[in-house]
Amino acid sequence: MRIQRVHPELVNDYCCNIYWVAGDPGNPRDANTLVDVGSSHPGTLDAVLAGIADLPKGIGRRPVEQVVLTHAHYDHAGALAAVVERFHPVVHAFQAGPGVSHPIVDGQWLRVGSLDVRVLHTPGHSDDSICLFCPETRALFSGDTLYRISEGGGAYPACYARSLERLQALRPAVIYPGHGEPIARDAEAFIASALAGVKASTLKP
Ligand SMILES: [Zn+2]
Repeated sequence: MRIQRVHPELVNDYCCNIYWVAGDPGNPRDANTLVDVGSSHPGTLDAVLAGIADLPKGIGRRPVEQVVLTHAHYDHAGALAAVVERFHPVVHAFQAGPGVSHPIVDGQWLRVGSLDVRVLHTPGHSDDSICLFCPETRALFSGDTLYRISEGGGAYPACYARSLERLQALRPAVIYPGHGEPIARDAEAFIASALAGVKASTLKP
């Protein structure tokens, strides 16, 4: 399993984490995959495209054969048109839209790099949010569904608590969030704290 962030130094208000998950060059089932593509903010986009082009891709493989979007917010999906034009990947997203070639549904399996991952529709942060979970490695790509909600007092749709309970039940070992550093220790505590924060907030129907 090889997962790396494209340009981790670019993680700021304008850009999410962009994860590149490498396939095994010798395995035709595998697909070099980007989980999210970042924003279209010009300086960010140029650096991201350059970062992708520099990735080791394996002989005869394109660096980006597939894209999976965790949701359609601009800081995660804004660069999609540029990435599609440059690399011609298959594009999976829950919400249909320009550049999305393959709409995905809850429960569907995808081959991401050399991992078999399950798509979980986890509405709350946005209606179209999804997470990706690999049972073999217990790795969870959480988009913006998981972020530091340290205390109550906010207002969230009621479905958000259900989505977080679903993630909690998976007991992931490592979380690759949409912003911030990957969480390799205390992943379950991180989910529990987000869930407690949401439950201590106003839940809208
Ligand atoms: Zn978002």
